[in-house]
Amino acid sequence: MFLAWKHEEQTTFLREAPSQILQQSLKFLDKAIADAFDKKSPKGFPRFKKKGTSDSFRYPQGFKVDQNNSRVFLPKIGWIRYRKSRSLTGELKNITVSRSSGKWYISIQTETEAGSPVHPSASMVGIDLGVAKFAKLSDGGEILRLNSFRKQEKKLAHLQRKMTKKVKFSQNWKKLKAKVQRLHQKIAHVRHDFLHKHSTAISKNHAIMAVEDLEVSHMSKSASGTRDNPGRNVRAKAGPNKSILDQGWGEFRRQLEYKLAWRGGMLLAVPPAYSSQKCSRCGHAHPDNRKTQELFRCQQCGLTINADYNAALNILAAGHAVLACGEIGSQNYSVKQEPAEASLEAAGIPRL
Ligand SMILES: [Zn+2]
Repeated sequence: MFLAWKHEEQTTFLREAPSQILQQSLKFLDKAIADAFDKKSPKGFPRFKKKGTSDSFRYPQGFKVDQNNSRVFLPKIGWIRYRKSRSLTGELKNITVSRSSGKWYISIQTETEAGSPVHPSASMVGIDLGVAKFAKLSDGGEILRLNSFRKQEKKLAHLQRKMTKKVKFSQNWKKLKAKVQRLHQKIAHVRHDFLHKHSTAISKNHAIMAVEDLEVSHMSKSASGTRDNPGRNVRAKAGPNKSILDQGWGEFRRQLEYKLAWRGGMLLAVPPAYSSQKCSRCGHAHPDNRKTQELFRCQQCGLTINADYNAALNILAAGHAVLACGEIGSQNYSVKQEPAEASLEAAGIPRL
């Protein structure tokens, strides 16, 4: 239908773009709608996009990359210089051009042959994602939290307040809006960097990682309730909610999953069965075991250890149970990634 649309008065702008880009955009739409109707996919129905927000387009072919001179050729645009962030290897498949906060980016998808990787490590570790600390590992390691948003929150609020005092769409309003966007982008970059550094490091060190199968979106759901039935602890929850959103656990898990798979390891999701209240030594589970955020003290056997460390040990044990026979009192565990058999053997885990 593109040919007809290109001649319709309201859509003549379509003529400015190469046909392949338009076709590619329709393919994206097709995929988005298919995902929306896929019950296993968490994605909702695609939304209409406004010109100027998350602008991007993809060339499936017709582009050229001159790496030595750091330039790309884009059909209907011509040769453009770029700042090279890394070298390209393999066959170039497509190129995506996007704009974010006034800057243009290109990303190039390539294809190379990869053998079945075998993870260099043989260790298995449980990981507890928490609010006080970003993560605690069952080998004792920990990742401290990064509150990129909290730190910048005041600055952001200040700028947004200033914006409300300006005339909308005036020059000063636009300048402030650009500042707000740049700050948002800075926060996003800091978080992105943090998550990638840590997910890379721990996926290199451990072949199998067990995590609790928490729905992060549930944890951060609004505590405010409805007007007729206001939620309890609205104030108390207002803080943690923001922290949870700021941590990026969902993204962290996603990164761990694919980075482990790259290296021949695997991510195991285990059901969250009272891992914070259960004693990792004797198995006694009771809310009284956890007196404070920091400390775990078993009411039965007297084990006294850091509460997050205790939880990480429980998650590790649940992970072993999943691998051994799936017998952990719940049917809803899931194995997220088929492991390479070699790495299971390397980890001393018998094949089933
Ligand atoms: Zn105990």
